[in-house]
Amino acid sequence: MATTKNKIVKKSAPQVSSVKSVFQNYAPAPESSDHIQLKSQYDLFINGKFVKPLSKEYYDTINPATGKKIASVAKGNEKDIDAAVKSANKAFETWSKTAPKERAKYIYRIARMIQERAREFAVIETMNGGKSIRESRDIDVPLAANHFFYYAGWADKLEYAFPNRNPKPIGVAGQIIPWNFPLLMAAWKIAPALATGNTVVLKPAETTPLTALKLAEIIQESGLPDGVVNIVTGFGDCGAALVNHPQVNKIAFTGSTPVGKYIQKAIAGTSKKVTLELGGKAANIIFDDAPIDQAVEGIVNGIFFNQGHVCCAGSRLFIQENVAEKVIKKLKERMKTLIVGDPMDKNTDIGAINSQAQLDKINHYIKLGQKEGAEIFQPECSIPSHGFFCKPTLFIGTSQSHRIVQEEIFGPVLTIQTFRTIEEVIEKANNIPYGLSAGVWTDKGSKIFNLTSKLRVGVVWANTYNKFDPTSPFGGYKESGFGREGGVHGLLPYVKF
Ligand code: NAP
Ligand code: MG
Repeated sequence: MATTKNKIVKKSAPQVSSVKSVFQNYAPAPESSDHIQLKSQYDLFINGKFVKPLSKEYYDTINPATGKKIASVAKGNEKDIDAAVKSANKAFETWSKTAPKERAKYIYRIARMIQERAREFAVIETMNGGKSIRESRDIDVPLAANHFFYYAGWADKLEYAFPNRNPKPIGVAGQIIPWNFPLLMAAWKIAPALATGNTVVLKPAETTPLTALKLAEIIQESGLPDGVVNIVTGFGDCGAALVNHPQVNKIAFTGSTPVGKYIQKAIAGTSKKVTLELGGKAANIIFDDAPIDQAVEGIVNGIFFNQGHVCCAGSRLFIQENVAEKVIKKLKERMKTLIVGDPMDKNTDIGAINSQAQLDKINHYIKLGQKEGAEIFQPECSIPSHGFFCKPTLFIGTSQSHRIVQEEIFGPVLTIQTFRTIEEVIEKANNIPYGLSAGVWTDKGSKIFNLTSKLRVGVVWANTYNKFDPTSPFGGYKESGFGREGGVHGLLPYVKF
């Protein structure tokens, strides 16, 4: 493997620019960028090779913490998607017949290579997406490797996952992912598809292509047969072309509810299988018997983790009336200690908002909340003058009819409501178009079980929040989509019987 590794580095050497140059205004460089190399231009990964887009068009990918360009990225179109799907379709002939234990070896290898390059992945993820380096390093990258390890383990045990049902792969999986967990979402999608013997065409989000392309380099080095995984960067039309391609047999989409609805319409009447992981607006519920200090940490983690760019973020806080004043006071104090700023700094809690467009959307909702009459609280923290940043924000005194309560903001903005009885909070928590996740904080196990059975959501965290593991299924109800990813459930969308 060492020789292939050297070969790759050598091959890309002429167009390499150091991460340091991008961060030259940052002193001292908080996370050392030694040995991390970025190309100035990235091509599409089709049939095991990096190829130029047929249109020859490229677009700029930027660092949201500086607003500056990092590299040029290929803008794939319908024709590139066609080439990628054809390569995946051809590769399926052999990959689907490859012995499961052989398939597992490749997936294990990819997992190990992600671990070996963990620092590189973490730095690139933070540069391209804006999330804090602590999060990229401690959560996203290790979890991505763990997803590959976990599904590698299933590859030769599918008969145990589906006893007496003789599971078979489906064919070409078209996978479309968002910008909030770029590497992790790629892992969630690719690992189970490979373990079950399918081949893949993945379309990363327009603003965050770089870690998916780094993964492509690893996949190439791992020796995975050509065409088994193809990665085509581009815009929404590129995703639409993938959805509409007749040789794609399964669509796995994570993204917004409007695009999810569009996809459902586009494939109506076809035999394509589909899973949709869409938006959310989760209730985080604090009862008066909860350990309050822990709950405050859970509230902060629930909404400010990853700048609130989290589909399952605890964005609607419900506090039992008799402890509301105490919880809000402690929450405000805690928010004053949060550090907003340079995502590459290990002390940063809230990094950069992913794009100007997303910052505009969040600011629009912050204005709207004030217009709707809710009381706003933002700590007096400083935020960088360049790049895209947003202060952690609370809205107190909100009600069910407020748009800031009903609509997904996808930023560090929390709405607060109070409640008296358990029936009331269940009713309010469920009275929303989404149904992805929820949190409950209480000392009583019986209350937890009562809520887990009555909340119409895919995931309920009890006395914790935003915890992820490859072994547990994740997915939603209602407008949060359908199908599950993760765990043994995550194999089902990739097999037929
Ligand atoms: P998005 O606009 O729906 O985009 C998601 C992906 O779909 C991107 O790769 C996008 O490409 C592509 N796309 C856009 N238009 C398309 C079309 N017509 N056909 C096919 N693909 C198309 O969502 P986003 O703004 O990137 O991500 C934020 C949303 O994702 C939030 O609503 C969040 O809740 C949701 N999300 C859900 C989960 C979950 O597991 N439930 C997890 C993470 C995020 P471009 O980037 O080029 O537009
Ligand atoms: Mg989009």
